[in-house]
Amino acid sequence: MNATTHAVFGVAAFAGACLAAGVEPPAYAYPAAVAAAWLPDVDNPRSRLGNGLSRMRSPALNLLSRPLSWALRATSFVLVRTVGHRTLTHSLLGLALFCAPVWLLLGGYPAFALALAAGYASHLLADALNTRGVPLLWPLGKPFRLLPRGIRSGGAAEAAVAVAALALAGYALALLHPALGGALGLS
Ligand SMILES: [Zn+2]
Repeated sequence: MNATTHAVFGVAAFAGACLAAGVEPPAYAYPAAVAAAWLPDVDNPRSRLGNGLSRMRSPALNLLSRPLSWALRATSFVLVRTVGHRTLTHSLLGLALFCAPVWLLLGGYPAFALALAAGYASHLLADALNTRGVPLLWPLGKPFRLLPRGIRSGGAAEAAVAVAALALAGYALALLHPALGGALGLS
């Protein structure tokens, strides 16, 4: 799945999780959900985050983002050389390894922690719709697929899935933020 589809799934999953848990999401948590939804593909050096952060317009922001950008590239290099793409980061083990420190460090900010966890988990769900599937039980077992044949990445079917997820995200956002729903004419 491409970065846009993962971003939409991240927002939809986070908004859904907030509705289910009765959490009121602050605006800053949405970008966190999107970043977490991109994180599992850091094991691919050509992915949005694996390729480092794109150059910012402002030199000051660029300077701030460089260390993170290098860290992402280094992580990407190590992962692709050791375990390969779509392995550890796309498994339940990877999800647990990500969520444990998030919960420990950000337990005081439940909405933020929920955004990161929901975003990451949404990536595994989206990739499970793919032809290749996800190795949930990595390093054991076969890749797991939600659909018998799966959806090809970048095809019309992926676009349709992204639009459906966008509709769900919009519905959840309108419920979470009634003012936003009113502005969009939904309530
Ligand atoms: Zn992926």
